[in-house]
Amino acid sequence: MLPHVTLPYNGLTLDRAGSRRTDPDWVAVTSGHASALALWRDACLVRDGRPVMVDPPAGAVFLGLDGDRGMFAVDLSEMDEPAALREVGADEVVDVRRLFAGLTREQAATLAYAKGILHWNRNQRFCGACGSPTTSRDAGHLRVCDGCGKLLFPRIEPAVIVLVEAPASPARCLLARHRGAAPDSFSTLAGFVEIGECLEDAVRRELHEEAGVRVASVRYQASQAWPFPAGLMVGFRAVAATDSVAVDENELVEARWFTRDEVVERLAFGNNRVDSIEHFLIESWVRDEG
Ligand SMILES: [Zn+2]
Repeated sequence: MLPHVTLPYNGLTLDRAGSRRTDPDWVAVTSGHASALALWRDACLVRDGRPVMVDPPAGAVFLGLDGDRGMFAVDLSEMDEPAALREVGADEVVDVRRLFAGLTREQAATLAYAKGILHWNRNQRFCGACGSPTTSRDAGHLRVCDGCGKLLFPRIEPAVIVLVEAPASPARCLLARHRGAAPDSFSTLAGFVEIGECLEDAVRRELHEEAGVRVASVRYQASQAWPFPAGLMVGFRAVAATDSVAVDENELVEARWFTRDEVVERLAFGNNRVDSIEHFLIESWVRDEG
């Protein structure tokens, strides 16, 4: 299996049926033979440790088809927490990433997608141009301004995440301790892509701004769906031009080079970010792959 498919939250197998979800009649018929995930303010409503599935109510967001069966998502955020729990017979509200270990690959991808699309709808209720309310269309994949008619499409916010290698042997990678992180918690460098920037330029800028590192080369590794709430993580391997490091103390406490043995001992298998592309970038470097 290709690396990008093995990454958590990637590889959704639902058929998104993009050309059919624009037809309200088709969506209504499909919702009669369907299930819906229930979320409340970005978290999953859970019963006995499992995501609750309900019959999709009117206005539920269409996620896709599993065979001929529809999969929807419903947002109960307008209720208070006890009412939302009662509504679907749930016993707790759990952050989606906390459920990851108990989900199949497909369930994790579907739940993350549900969280992202519901978050987008809930945060686009008013038009950014004229301030009027907006109305959901295309089963939750488009919103239209009631005032000026502006069309609002779901937005993705790309971020780069980079494993930086030292220019000469012994093989070492750069890891940083971020402000506010635990004393022994080192991680790869990452940052959002800015307007007017390509991915590789974002890698070069982030490494220079945060760690004072000049980059000799940048190579794409893999990307990961990261709808928490609207991310797309794009992973790179970079080679530094020199060993020189000078951290921006507003962002980082320290950044330094780690050998493979040090990474194995101290980091790769001790951190709790097993669902993130960072884990993949570090593990593939430790195995000398990529
Ligand atoms: Zn408007």
